[in-house]
Amino acid sequence: MIDGDLEDLARTQLRSWWGPQVDAWTHLRTYKIPHGQPGQDAPFSPKKKVSLGDGLYVCGDHRDTGSTQGAMYSGRRCAELVAQQVRLSV
Ligand SMILES: Cc1cc2nc3c(=O)[nH]c(=O)nc-3n(C[C@H](O)[C@H](O)[C@H](O)COP(=O)(O)OP(=O)(O)OC[C@H]3O[C@@H](n4cnc5c(N)ncnc54)[C@H](O)[C@@H]3O)c2cc1C
Repeated sequence: MIDGDLEDLARTQLRSWWGPQVDAWTHLRTYKIPHGQPGQDAPFSPKKKVSLGDGLYVCGDHRDTGSTQGAMYSGRRCAELVAQQVRLSV
């Protein structure tokens, strides 16, 4: 969770994209959503295991990084592991 004045932080970033007109925009509401993303506090270690044993596999951003890229990467790792296990059992 980001600390600090979120409106101010957002305005600073938006100003870098849209210029000074941002200062005339009206702030409506701020929502803080706990657990909106998986925890990635330092020291952070991605590539968590995708095999839970007993033929159970798991994938998702919480296995790698909290992003679309992380979700897809963990899905690939998971699928490759399942395919490897299937090949071994044939
Ligand atoms: C506000 C916000 C903005 C973001 N912006 C970006 C961005 O700009 N770029 C970026 O790369 N990433 C962004 N992300 C992160 C990205 O959206 C996630 O990392 C990604 O969607 C995770 O994909 P996932 O498949 O692991 O999980 P999800 O997309 O969360 O999919 C999990 C699915 O499982 C379902 N589910 C949960 N429990 C059960 C159950 N018991 N039974 C059946 N189904 C269940 C859920 O309903 C959901 O549909 C953002 C995330 C948020 C919240």
